[in-house]
Amino acid sequence: MEVTERLATDVAIVGAGPAGSTLAALLAERGISTILIDRDQFPRDKLCGEFLSYDALPLLDALGVTASLDSNHCPTITHGRIVGRQRSWEFALPRPARGVSRLLLDDLLLRRAQMAGAEVRCGWTAVELSPQGEGGPAVGGEARATVVIEREGVRVPIDATVLVGAWGRWGRFDIQLGRSFVRDRTHRHFGFKRHYRAKRTQKERGFIDLYSYGHGYLGVSPVEGDEINICGLVRASRLSGHQGGWPRFVEEIAAEEDRLAALFDAYIPASSDFLASEPVIFRGKEPVAREIVLIGDASGIVDPLAGNGMAMAMQSALIAAPAVAGIISAPKNRRRHERAYTAAHRDLFSPRIRWSRASGWILSRPSLLELALRVAPSRPTGRFLASRTRGSYETVSRLADRWFQ
Ligand SMILES: Cc1cc2nc3c(=O)[nH]c(=O)nc-3n(C[C@H](O)[C@H](O)[C@H](O)COP(=O)(O)OP(=O)(O)OC[C@H]3O[C@@H](n4cnc5c(N)ncnc54)[C@H](O)[C@@H]3O)c2cc1C
Repeated sequence: MEVTERLATDVAIVGAGPAGSTLAALLAERGISTILIDRDQFPRDKLCGEFLSYDALPLLDALGVTASLDSNHCPTITHGRIVGRQRSWEFALPRPARGVSRLLLDDLLLRRAQMAGAEVRCGWTAVELSPQGEGGPAVGGEARATVVIEREGVRVPIDATVLVGAWGRWGRFDIQLGRSFVRDRTHRHFGFKRHYRAKRTQKERGFIDLYSYGHGYLGVSPVEGDEINICGLVRASRLSGHQGGWPRFVEEIAAEEDRLAALFDAYIPASSDFLASEPVIFRGKEPVAREIVLIGDASGIVDPLAGNGMAMAMQSALIAAPAVAGIISAPKNRRRHERAYTAAHRDLFSPRIRWSRASGWILSRPSLLELALRVAPSRPTGRFLASRTRGSYETVSRLADRWFQ
């Protein structure tokens, strides 16, 4: 393997999903030298329900990305519907959300980071990490971390004052860092998604629908280009011994639940195949591990039914940015900034993670869901759960204003 150059930067970010690109944009905007690394070339597709919660929007506004959602005709989603066997709950969302494909959103954010001055290395995989004091060089008495990136037989070591892990819910470095969730076999799920088009003209494009089936659930949400995203989550245990891949699995759940049979009957596939995920494990995670600042799914996962993962990823970047900037300006205060980020992360995300987990538990039990739909009043309960499983628009606006003022 050839080493052709060695780079040095204030911040190296591994992963250019919504978390990594947002943080790169925020830091580069302040003149902090930032390298953003992703193994993929953009634009690229990604498994996701593609429902962009309203609490992401103040940050997208501040980054100047909202106009691109408008010009790409990303639908506005004003209502939610939970569809049971006999009855449904329909409710207005506390604020309008958007439907946007990952092909579009992740590319917009990446380009925003690049425009702000971040150096973007797409198509490069991070293959080795040496956290602070574990092999990286010391500069001015301060140990630096190193990440080695690789592409087509070429390796480039990057020394950084702060290393940020934005590699998503499951990455090779989680094992190296000894993170306990990777050994968890009891909370494993798998996700799948496909884009569809309606067979008949659609009357309603402003809804996100959630359907239940045994050990899993489906979200149905509109995206740009008149397409519909159908994205599901299923417990790993339900798939053991299953054969025939995702098409067969979809036939199986449609045969179990009449509402799902009617749903799939109304659409034709718009993408060539299903996209599936690496395991999704719902477990608490720490936002800093061996001096690596973790953001997005790498720092904690909200149950996908909430449709809040992208918002949370961007918000974790927003609360990590002051801590990272603080470390850059005074590396001796690293611990204090790490503690501040950890506390802010817990305050902002722990409640919504708990609520989403409880809601997901009910949603993946069709009989229990039917009972809940019968006894609880639909509008106030739906709205209450929608607000508890995401952040406050006002809080995110305030945090964004503070960073950009
Ligand atoms: C079934 C399902 C449905 C969902 N539906 C929704 C929804 O409707 N709305 C919503 O808001 N959220 C949803 N989510 C959650 C959402 O997808 C995530 O929360 C979000 O993608 C997290 O963003 P991130 O930036 O942390 O990570 P990611 O988006 O996963 O990005 C991580 C990036 O890191 C890169 N990477 C990883 N390892 C390396 C490496 N070694 N070197 C270089 N690059 C690397 C990857 O290529 C990737 O681009 C859903 C999740 C699932 C599983």
